[in-house]
Amino acid sequence: MENDGNKNQFSRRGFLGVGSAALAAVAGGLSVSSAIAQEGQQPGNPRTDRSASDPGPTNNGLDPQNLDSAWPPATDSKSLVQTFKYPFSFANKRTYKGGWSREVTVRELAVSKSLAGVNMRLTAGGVRELHWHTADEWAFVLYGSARITAIDRDGKSFVADVKKNDLWYFPSGIPHSIQGLEPDGTEFMLVFDDGDFSESETVLLSDSVAHLPPEILSKNFGVSQLALKNLPKHELFIFQTAVPGPLEADQKAAAGALGKSSTDFAFRTMEMPPTKRTKSGEVRIVDSSTFKASTNVAMAMVTVRPGGLRELHWHPNADEWQYYITGKARMTVVSTGNRARTMDFQEGDVGYVQKTLLHYIENTGNSDLVFLEMFKSSFYQDLSLSEWLAHTPPELVMAHLNIDRATLDAIPRDELVVVPG
Ligand code: MN
Ligand code: MN
Repeated sequence: MENDGNKNQFSRRGFLGVGSAALAAVAGGLSVSSAIAQEGQQPGNPRTDRSASDPGPTNNGLDPQNLDSAWPPATDSKSLVQTFKYPFSFANKRTYKGGWSREVTVRELAVSKSLAGVNMRLTAGGVRELHWHTADEWAFVLYGSARITAIDRDGKSFVADVKKNDLWYFPSGIPHSIQGLEPDGTEFMLVFDDGDFSESETVLLSDSVAHLPPEILSKNFGVSQLALKNLPKHELFIFQTAVPGPLEADQKAAAGALGKSSTDFAFRTMEMPPTKRTKSGEVRIVDSSTFKASTNVAMAMVTVRPGGLRELHWHPNADEWQYYITGKARMTVVSTGNRARTMDFQEGDVGYVQKTLLHYIENTGNSDLVFLEMFKSSFYQDLSLSEWLAHTPPELVMAHLNIDRATLDAIPRDELVVVPG
């Protein structure tokens, strides 16, 4: 890299560092400088226009990952749109023998009021201890496999094994646990239907018994205080123990005379066909219509091939919490009051779009982009910009956009979800 203060030379908007309108003008025979003049107040080539240079301190690790913040597209507004990105890389891990966890809540990402995320790793045998909480818990397995346990509202037991891409859902107040299985445990993303949730604010079995008088526990369980002398004095949260035995044996032992729960708190995402598929990608939508237990959280799992675009759309019913599983992306959110902002995303990032705001997600990398769209809602809902324009009286649309009939007719009539590059 040349040491000339030019932080923009690897911008995907071209090595000249000029906007697309300027590049188009150059292609049309105008000089670069007159093309820049036509772009108005946008800085031009940093070799000749010092307003496009950044000679002071720079974070050379983060800036290249966030070019749309360092050098926003000309269509972004000058006034602020609150940040809608938080990388899990910034979240501090709470580490234990047996695994770790970290969270991104409204305290880290102020705009994310409706949902919060917890990323957790458990070794083979590692346990997220028996607990419950006030928020509903939705989960996506990112790696490996786990055994999950719960009891339903009738007290009947649920024990199941889940693998990569599977989901689970534990409603508010339903007690549960998670344990990593062989060969290498698991990693998963938890999404809670409350941005203010914290993994530090859950009711733990260990914490509970540590704060109850021994004589009360003895009386409650009908056993001697001596038998309870080794109860934990502090919370466990995550701890290492032996890998559990066969699933059927655990299910039978937990069910007892009451029998198993009729509720399936788990969902096998890959056993359903994609909800929609084009040559540029696919989407799997899972909400309470397909995953009955998931009464208050809906998911769209989106794959976008290189160059493809998750088309312009909005969600009338809920904010969108995003988790980027793999690949690179950029997203523009068009806010109200003449404001818009573009931000860049990659593996491990959280994104957020407030209810009803127009947005797209473009694959800007060379590999598949896979991300989750999460909603605090019993049902998934979106509206596509193309679909709207195609189903509005044509003269009305043409009068707004100054386009001819052939152009309007070329716009897709139906929602595609993922459109080609
Ligand atoms: Mn939980
Ligand atoms: Mn969306």
